[in-house]
Order: sequence, then C-alpha cells, then structure tokens
Amino acid sequence: MTPRQGTAGQGKDTRFVIIGAGISGVLMAIKLLESGYRNFTILEKAAEMGGTWRDNTYPGVGCDVAAHLYSYSFARNPWWRTRYGKGADIRDYYHRVARRYGVLPHIAYGCEVTSAVLEAGRWVLTTRGGGTYAADIVIAATGRLHHPVVPDIAGLESFAGASFHTARWDHSVPLAGKRVGVIGTGSTATQIVTALAGKVARLTVFQRTAQWVFPVKDTPNPWWKRLAWALSRRNWESYYRQLRRETEARGKAATSSEEGRRARDQVCLDALAAIRDPQLRDKLTPDYAVGCKRLVFSDGFYEAIQHPGVEVVVDPIDRVVPQGVLTKDGTLHELDVLALATGFDAHAYVRPMQVTGEDGTTLDEVWRELPLSYRSIAVPRMPNFLMINGPYSPGGTASVVGIVEVQVGYVAQLIERIVQAGILLSPREEPARQWLDEVRERARQSVWGSGGCQSWYLDKTGTPTLDPSTLSELQEQLAVPDWDHFIERPR
Ligand code: NAP
Repeated sequence: MTPRQGTAGQGKDTRFVIIGAGISGVLMAIKLLESGYRNFTILEKAAEMGGTWRDNTYPGVGCDVAAHLYSYSFARNPWWRTRYGKGADIRDYYHRVARRYGVLPHIAYGCEVTSAVLEAGRWVLTTRGGGTYAADIVIAATGRLHHPVVPDIAGLESFAGASFHTARWDHSVPLAGKRVGVIGTGSTATQIVTALAGKVARLTVFQRTAQWVFPVKDTPNPWWKRLAWALSRRNWESYYRQLRRETEARGKAATSSEEGRRARDQVCLDALAAIRDPQLRDKLTPDYAVGCKRLVFSDGFYEAIQHPGVEVVVDPIDRVVPQGVLTKDGTLHELDVLALATGFDAHAYVRPMQVTGEDGTTLDEVWRELPLSYRSIAVPRMPNFLMINGPYSPGGTASVVGIVEVQVGYVAQLIERIVQAGILLSPREEPARQWLDEVRERARQSVWGSGGCQSWYLDKTGTPTLDPSTLSELQEQLAVPDWDHFIERPR
C-alpha cells in the first residue's frame, strides 16, 4: 500500500476519527491516506502510540507469532534479527511504519474517548479531558487485551514489596537478588519465567491451571537471509507466504482437522514428557484438551521452569500478606516483588466508552445480552460507527495483523459507500443476529468451547468470543460487503 496524496475527489473532506493508535488504528489511518482522505484524527488515550506493545514491557516480552507475519504485509521489514520479534523491536517497527506513512501527525495523544453520541447525523466524541471532536465516520480500533485484570485476592494491597500487573511493569524496581513471585501461567507469565529463571534470587510461580506448551525454536535470521529479503521482494514474499501456510495449518488443526490436531497434541505431550522431575511434570500436566486455552508457544519455558531457583506452587492462594503470598496449605511464600500475570478483560471491547446511536439507543442496550455486531465490524443502530478487531473476530488461528488487514479492507469498502452516497450506513439487525448465531455455533464446536477449560476466550455463557475461521476463510467472508445486509439513510 502506498498512500496517495489527497485528491480533490468527491467526499475527500469527510471527517474521520479513529480511536486508538495501535496496530489496527495505524493500519486504518494508512488505508485512509491511501484512499486520499486526510481529514482524520487518531484519538489515543496514552502519551505514545503502539497499543499492546507500548503497554507490555515486562522482562522477556516478545511475540510468539513469527515476526514477518506479525508485520503489515505491505511494509516488509527484512531485518528482523530472529524468527520471533522482541517487544521493543515490534514497538519500533510499528512506530517506524507510522512515521514512514505519514500517520504520526494525525495522532492526538492523551485523548481517551469517554463518549460518542450521534447528533444530527454526525458523531460527537468527548474525551476525558473534556475535548470534543466531530466525525462523519468513527472507527474504533481499541484493541482487545488492554484492560488489565487485577485478581480479587484478599490482602493484595497489604503486600510490603513491589506489586504490579505485567502490563504496568515497574522498571524502577530492581529484580537482581530479589525473591520474585509471578501469579499466572499464561503466555505472559511463561515469557517472564523464561526470562527471569536463574536471574533472580528465587522465582515462585503461582499456578492455578497448568498450560499446554508447544515448543518452538527462536532461531536467528542469518545476515545473508536478511540481505536476500531486503534485496528481493519476491524472496521476502515467498517466505511470508510459507509462514502464513504454516500458521494457517496449525490454526486449522486447532479448530477442525483431527489428524492435524493429533500431530500438534503429540508435540506438546512429548515436550511435557521431557520434564525430568515426575512431581513437577505432574504439576505441569493440564487436565483439558490441547488448544482449549490459547497455546503457549515457547522456546525455553520448560527448561526455565526446571531451573533450581524456580518453584511451581499449585496450592491455591489464600491471601497476600505483607511478607508474601500465603497458600491454603498454610505455607508463606516470602517475596520482594509480586508480578500479576493475570491477563485482561477481553470482553470490554470499546467500553467503558459510552456510545449512543440512532434514536438515543446506547451500545450498552444493544449489547445487553451479547456483543451483537455484523461480522465484528458494524453494530445495528450505530450508523457510520465501525470497529476493527471487534467482538468475535478470529483469533488463535492466524496472526492478528493479517486479520485486521482483511477487516480494514472491508471497512474501506463500507467507507467508500458511505462517502460516495453521502449516507448513514448500519447493518440490519436480522443478518447481524444470524451471523452472531452462526459464529457462536462455530466457536462452541471448536476446541476452545469443547476442550474442558476456562479461558479469556469464553464469555459469561461459556461460549468462545472468537471466530475459529482461518485467515483464508475470513478473506472470503469479507471480500465484498453484502449491501442487502445494510440500511442506508440520508445523512
Ligand atoms: P491469560 O492467558 O488470561 O492468563 C492469566 C493467568 O493468570 C492464567 O494462568 C490464570 O489462571 C491466572 N490467574 C488469573 N486470575 C488468577 C487468580 N485470581 N489466582 C490465580 N491465578 C490467576 O493472560 P496473559 O498470559 O496475559 O495472556 C493473555 C493473552 O495475551 C494471551 O492468551 C495471548 O492472546 C496474548 N499474549 C500473546 C503473546 C504473544 O507472544 N503473542 C504474549 C503474551 C500475551 P487460570 O488459567 O486458572 O485462569
């Protein structure tokens, strides 16, 4: 995608607001620029762009999706040093791309949107500081995993050492020579444990549920490969396509193919079987199907957890006391630092923002039962209010970057229609409900719904809020909008 300069074409003065300057928001901005729209602002609540890669700076932070695949397909970076990107490198990459494509001047920082109200055919957005912004079209690119969950553990406030959620890591707290506790065993915790084992005085991991771990190798990309990717787009594209095929096959195995599933499960079982201490192996053995929770892809977690300076505690936590964590068996685990790797509220989506659409209908009303949307992207009665990576977006089967690229392509088509016809566009309720029923049924049948575990994928009814469709399937589903599924009104 090469952004064109703004043309004087019809509707190019349309006013847009994008909410959030993470991977999706920046991508949407690039797409607007490419289409000749320059009249837009990205409202970003923080003081920097980068979304999850700005928030997560914990030790060992990285991405377990191959770095080339975790990049925009049009903004190739041949220089990734290793197969998997480190957090800081990913943050720098997205910042570089935003700068290169002219997105940075459009970002307004420190602007957390608290409400969006449709008034006389235009959206009026209010930010926490009291600023107001008007827009013909709003695109919420607010991300999914950005509201940290602080666990409801008695006495947490009483801890005398340093305690913080992993997405708010306090780098002023020294770790060397300290007794560090980590609550949780998800993808975040496993990266932290892998990074800190042997580097702190003692590492205590509080595990409520064991995780399946799929071992991967984070190999360096040798200089000659990087040079070849830099010199030849074809070379780079062929590697990108190969990674996509591999990820798609693995994602499909997780959700449909029996044979693929068995092969993947065996890799996890073999890795687990290699744990030397049978008691530790027992502790780390999950009691649910592989892939039910998001798989941990790790180069080194099982080695790290076997380090003599690491202890896995499976007795439930009773309370936190000033000296550390007290477990139900009466043991006091003394700590200097306590990291809460306890995940995120994945069901908030654009909330707590208050959104009020047609006839005073609020998003909370539309979403009272379930977060109803049409294809994760548009909400009935909320005309010209579009979402990237909204409820029931695919996940776990592909790189989120590929997914949001497909969604942005679809949103761009809706935008063209809105602008060309000068209309308010919203999905009809019936197709939205039908799509929701279909996607929920698909999700229930996936291992996420049937694998016998609890996870952030599940909503209060126990149904996964992710679409198990693969990237190729999503591309087909979102290739061209079905205009019969939308209502058009004059603006
Ligand atoms: P998570 O997967 O939701 O894991 C939270 C962990 O905290 C779980 O082990 C959970 O135990 C535990 N926990 C929560 N409340 C607890 C309590 N009150 N007492 C004891 N334990 C408690 O969160 P995450 O690890 O931050 O990962 C979230 C998602 O972010 C991932 O699934 C992934 O999609 C994404 N992520 C991706 C990468 C990457 O490399 N691509 C890296 C990090 C994160 P239970 O299992 O028993 O609930």
